[in-house]
Amino acid sequence: MDCLFCKIVNRDVPADIVYEDEHVLAFNDINPQAPTHILIIPKSHIATLNDIEERDLALVGRLPYVAARLAEERGFAEEGYRVVMNCNDQGGQTVYHIHMHLMGGRRFTWPAG
Ligand code: 5GP
Ligand code: ZN
Repeated sequence: MDCLFCKIVNRDVPADIVYEDEHVLAFNDINPQAPTHILIIPKSHIATLNDIEERDLALVGRLPYVAARLAEERGFAEEGYRVVMNCNDQGGQTVYHIHMHLMGGRRFTWPAG
């Protein structure tokens, strides 16, 4: 399958991996928008939020769980941080393998642009 993030999972494309378990991989974003900007992905391919099925719920639940653990590890869990999942064109999704952005180390504004 021609999916960039599947290639990162399979080590066909290099990435700066910061966390890995049986189900989930996390790596630094190549174009960081904050002092910490990590992408957290399921190892199995799910194209968009719209494609999540009931059987995926435990897997997808790991994404915010890992985000919070990484935020804690990096020392900004208490002060706060931003997690984002973009869906499809109008949502700003550019890589069609679901991913949670974890951004921390600065103040974020709301609403998002
Ligand atoms: P999206 O726009 O789909 O929500 O987020 C895709 C993210 O993937 C962007 O923040 C972009 O910088 C990041 N990205 C795109 N290509 C690569 C890559 O080859 N390596 C890494 N580490 N990040 C990438
Ligand atoms: Zn994929």
